[in-house]
Formats: sequence, C-alpha cells, structure tokens
Amino acid sequence: MTASTQTQQQWYATIALPVPLRSLFDYSLPQTTTPDTRKQLAGCRVKVSFRSQTLIGIIINCHQTPSFDPNKIKPLDEILDKRATFPAELLKLCWWAANYYHHPIGETLYTALPQQLRQGKPGELTTTVWRLTVEGRGLPKDGLKRAPKQQEVLQHLLVHPHLRGDEIEARNISPTTLAAMIKKGLLEKDSTIEPPPTQAEVDNTLVLETPPNLSQEQQAAIDQLRYHQFKTYLLEGITGSGKTEIYLQAIARVLQAGQQALVLIPEIGLTPQTIKRFRQRFSCPIAELHSNVSESKRNQNWMAARDGRAQIVIGTRLAAFTPMKQLGIIIIDEEHDLSYKQQDGLRYSARDLSIYRASTLRIPVILGSATPSLESLHNAIHGRYHHLRLTKRAGSAKPPQINILDLRQKPLFAGLCDEAVKALADTLANGHQAIVFINRRGYAPTLLCHQCGWIAECRSCDAHMTLHRTPLHLHCHHCNAQQPAPRQCPSCHSTQLNPRGLGTEQTEQWLQQQFPQYPVIRIDRDTTQRKNALTETLEEVGKGEPCVLIGTQMLAKGHHLPKIALVVIVDCDQGLLSSDFRGSERLGQLIVQVAGRAGREDVPGRVLIQSHTPDHPLLECLMTKGYHRYARQLLSERQATGLPPFGFSALFRAESKRPENAIEFLQMVARTLSQIAPASRDIQYLGPIPARMEKLNERFRYQFQLKTSSRKVLQGILKKGVKQIDQHALTKRTRWSVDVDALEN
Ligand code: ADP
Ligand code: ZN
Ligand code: ZN
Repeated sequence: MTASTQTQQQWYATIALPVPLRSLFDYSLPQTTTPDTRKQLAGCRVKVSFRSQTLIGIIINCHQTPSFDPNKIKPLDEILDKRATFPAELLKLCWWAANYYHHPIGETLYTALPQQLRQGKPGELTTTVWRLTVEGRGLPKDGLKRAPKQQEVLQHLLVHPHLRGDEIEARNISPTTLAAMIKKGLLEKDSTIEPPPTQAEVDNTLVLETPPNLSQEQQAAIDQLRYHQFKTYLLEGITGSGKTEIYLQAIARVLQAGQQALVLIPEIGLTPQTIKRFRQRFSCPIAELHSNVSESKRNQNWMAARDGRAQIVIGTRLAAFTPMKQLGIIIIDEEHDLSYKQQDGLRYSARDLSIYRASTLRIPVILGSATPSLESLHNAIHGRYHHLRLTKRAGSAKPPQINILDLRQKPLFAGLCDEAVKALADTLANGHQAIVFINRRGYAPTLLCHQCGWIAECRSCDAHMTLHRTPLHLHCHHCNAQQPAPRQCPSCHSTQLNPRGLGTEQTEQWLQQQFPQYPVIRIDRDTTQRKNALTETLEEVGKGEPCVLIGTQMLAKGHHLPKIALVVIVDCDQGLLSSDFRGSERLGQLIVQVAGRAGREDVPGRVLIQSHTPDHPLLECLMTKGYHRYARQLLSERQATGLPPFGFSALFRAESKRPENAIEFLQMVARTLSQIAPASRDIQYLGPIPARMEKLNERFRYQFQLKTSSRKVLQGILKKGVKQIDQHALTKRTRWSVDVDALEN
C-alpha cells in the first residue's frame, strides 16, 4: 500500500480536551472503525495521550482531512462510550456557550460534565442483576422444589434472563436464598445496562395530589401558555401569588405529551422545599442536580435525564447543561437571582443559556419572579417576552403592611431601634414568629483600637477582618483567612479594642438576653455549613412555635414559613449608597423578597425597614408604588447612562502577584481591541482600572471594560480580539478572563 492511499483511508477524530486552549486536536481513529460507528462518535468520550499525560476528551467530529502533518498525528488510545455522552443537542448548546462567552470548548464541555464522567466512569446506568450459571440452567424445571424460595428464583430465571434488585424485593426473596444458590454454583451476580422506560411506564406519570382550583389570574396566565413552540414568558407575580402552582400545571401538560421538564432554582436555600412540592404532585422519577447531591448520584441523574428515564430535572445553575431526551419546557424560578451567573471559569448565565436552548428546541421557557431582573422586565415591556402577571396572593393570605422607621438620632440596641424591639416583643407575645434581617455575618465587620485607631486588616486583601465571637476569632470574608483575635492592640498595646459595626452574631446575642424565654435562631453561612442544617432548622421553625430568626440574605430566598408575622430589615442604607450599578436593583429585590416572608396563610404580616435616609426617593418609590414601578424608574436611569440592558459589556479581568504584570496585560488588551474597532460613540473602552478590591488573596487585580450599544458589535470585537490576546506572550504572566454580560462594571 502506498503512503497516499493509506492517508486516504485513514479517518481522524477532532477532539476537545480539558485544557485552557482554544484549539481542537486531531487523533487518528483505529482502522477498524466502521462508517456506522463513525456516525455515532460525535459526543463520545475518548482516552488520548497529550503532552505525556493521558486525558479524557470529547469527539467533536470525524473527518479525513487532518489539520497538520498526518505523520505526526497520534492514534487515540480508547473510545470510552458506545453512545454519545454529549447528545447532539447538548453539544450544540456547549458550542454556543463557548462562542458566546469566549471560553475554550474543551473546558466548556468539562464544565457541563459530572465529575465521574470526567474521570472516565461508565457512561451508562447499570443495575445489579442475578443470572443462572451454566450449571443452574442445566437443572430440571422443579430441581429445587425442596427449597421453595430457591425454586421460585429458578422458575423465574428459566423464563427470564435475569432478576433485578426491585424484583427480588417485590417477591420477598431474602439475601440468604440468593447466597445459598450462589454457593451451590447455580447463580451469579452481574451488572447490566438499564433499559430505557417503556411507553407504559412513561404514561404512568400520574398526578398524585389534586391541584387547587386556580384563581382567575392564575387561570388567565395558564391559558396564555403555548406548548411545542418557542416563547419566553416572564411570570411576574408577588410572593405567594401561586407562581409555583403555575409551573406545576404547565409541567403536567408537558409530561402528558410524553416530554420532560427542566426546572432551575437558585443556588442556596429553597431547594428542599421546592423539590418536596414537586414530589408531592408527581409520581414520575425526578432527578435532582445541585450541590447537596453526591457525585455518584449526580452522575446517575444526569444519565437518567439523558435517557428519558427521569421526567423532571430540578437543579441549580449547572443543571442548565443537563442532556434531556425529550425536553418540553424550561422553568427558571427566581429568575433575578444572581446565582444563575457563574463567576469563574465559564462565566455563563444559566438563564440566558436556557432561553437559547428553548429557542433551538422550539419549546416554552418560563422565567418566574416577584422581583424580575431589569433585563427581563425590559424584554417583557418591549414585547420580546410574553408578560404574565399575578398581583394577588393565592388563597386567603393578604399582602403585608410595610413601614419605614427613621433611625436618625435614635438610640440603637444591637442595631435595633425602640419601635422595632417593641414590635418584636408584641409578635412573640402573640405567639407568632419574626425575622430580623442583617446582611452581614459575624459579630462586627471591624475591630478598632480606641487609643491609636489601628484596625484589624487582612494581610492578603484590601479588607478589614470581621470579628466573630462564636468561636472568638478574626475572619477575612474575602480570602477566608482566619486568626486569633488579639487582646492587645498590636500597634500601641492598648487593651481598648472595640468592635465596630454590626453582624448577625451581635444582634443574636442581644436578642437572646432580651427575650430569654424564646428561641433566637441565627441563619447564616456559619450556622448552615453542615449538610441539611438549614433544612432541619427550617423544619423546626415550620412547626410554628414563637421564635426570632436572624439571618443574612439566605433568609430572603423563597422559604415558605407560614407563621412569620413580622420582618425587620435592620439596615437598608448600604444598597442605596452602593457604587455598583446593580446596587439599587438588588436592594429593591432584597427588600421585597424579605418582606414577602411576612404574613402567609392566616397570619397578617408587618414589615419594618430601618433607615438613616428614610426620604430617599428610591426607597419612597419602592414603598408607595411597589417593585414594578421602582424597577421601571431604575430602567429609565439605566437608559440615560447606557448601562445594561441598554448597553452591552464585557469585562476583562487580570490578576498577578506583581501589579505591573496585570496592568501591562490589560494595556495590551486595550491596544488589541482598539485596533480592531477604534473607540466611538457606540464603542467605549474603560481602563485598566483597579478592581473593586484591588488586592485579594495576595494578588493585585485590575479590569478593563468594553462597552457597546449593540450585542452584535460586542461579539464581533471579542471574536477577533480574544483570539489575538490569547496568542500574546503576556498571557503567560497573568491570570486573566473575559466576562461577557458581567454582573458588575
Ligand atoms: P409563589 O410561588 O408565587 O410564591 P406559591 O405557588 O408557593 O406562590 O403559592 C403560595 C401558597 O398558596 C402555597 O401554599 C400554595 O399551595 C397556595 N396556592 C397556590 N395557588 C393556590 C390556589 N389557586 N388556591 C389555593 N391555594 C393556592
Ligand atoms: Zn492601638
Ligand atoms: Zn483576606
């Protein structure tokens, strides 16, 4: 055979590898691969050697035109999958994400993949089964009749290929029976690939509980939903208006049509309760994908969704990348939640990704929130999303009464003014529960020397250390550094070290002294680290005994706590004075979400907002006109300044131990981008400037921003720019990233 005919016959696979490089790699396929196998190779995992390591890669496609000298192309070591780990639809979604967020495709695919599949574990669900050995099959039909249970197993296996675990349980066959047969050499244990569900099994997805009669508003919203076509719905409904009920009924329709549903929920907090509601309603398999699910379970759930065995998938951000056999609807609950945007690696928005996904699958996507993001609201106002609104609480619950408490010149007790303390006392005396919301954990955000003004600062960051009392120590909330709290000032040796400012621990301690007869329960990251701690606490609170909950924004998430009659927001001034362009949006959402915890079902609710700037026009707008009008006002401010959703931006971040390296890198970025597209009215470049926290964890951080008036222009510049930047020698000295549609500016 001549060399040329050999290359003609040779097939290659283009492979994505988990390396921070934007290129793909060619490997030669074994000569034995048939045209039929090649057709099914895209999305399969392979083992290859790459720079003296063995890596697991993903086949993108097969071809006969190698991208470089065929003699230097290595053969791949092993094809790991019989069936694509990445079905075509998911592969397409990952390509879109890699292109849109300008992230290497190999790393993008790896982000989507559960850890065990990354490590090469089998890509098929297997079950343990019991089969007859050759000897067992040789037995006569009634060969074991003296041991009735063993005879039952034998009879079954003479007609069926194997016995599964669930069948053994259903037939009440004990492990000793099986062990006895194994010992006699009649039976053996094996594992087999689980077959996909039959149509009958799918049809069996019964609705377990009877859904409530819908309110007029709910019915109107349901009636407007269209299935089997792409449309984005913004379901804007106040807390407790019955949004979840709409999700459930929409999903029921989708299941009846033999399709699956994907439900995304925010990162922390509300997972257990939401999932419980879905499980109460539907009998079909529900796969969970979030941080409380073990790696092996995650792996199984992923495959169950891919193979159509799980009809509903509920998960956090990462679940947006679940392969689904027959996806019919996507639901994004609390769509405004910032946890939908990944903040490192592939900086994707699970919401935006899902909308793209729904468009390619031609299915509906529902974004639900009491406090929609300005982006979504803008799209709804302009008709790009279909706007559905629920303005009344479901059932008999009434909206809470909200008051602002003017803190100016008033004495404060662990952050609380007299009126707030009195309201707490009344609530408890009436047998009800209260929430005190403080968005800072620890005892005090600063430790200050009264003699010389020394402040405990983090050695690695531009940040004060937070003082914690339980147990006593100093803690940097940015780099996680911890150290003992000093007794003496390290600078002047004075012992007059005073905590300054307020954290959850301080108010907790004070309230415990004030109301010793009632439980005071703190809910923040420190008290909920243990798995299930939050769920257990919420279950306890759910019983309804009078108590005070103190917590950070973890409490603002959609917990259903029916006995909360009072919510006190200790300090709302920070958000109003924030320099971040999303500060006021977030504050409005937070206030409304926390307030939404008050007064559900039969207990009327009251909300007290403490402020030093009670006349702030934004606060007043929120109080008198509600979130929707407030958000519209913020939108007009954003329009005037060209901020998102009226402008589009990408943030380049760079960090290094030596500040000049990061700055030099970003100057190169600035030169590269402005050569591609000079600054104009529609294209702006800002920076390099120091990041909000310039020094974090021993590294100096800077940023450079590209702002445009159109998404297309932004993407065009990035497409050329990132490629050039990537090849520059300076990339070796700095950690850098590009963040498309960054949350900050
Ligand atoms: P949201 O998701 O908007 O906060 P939920 O769907 O959780 O609201 O509904 C709030 C409460 O009202 C829940 O306890 C729910 O069971 C109940 N609910 C919802 N819809 C109805 C209805 N049509 N009739 C009676 N109760 C309802
Ligand atoms: Zn001092
Ligand atoms: Zn630090």
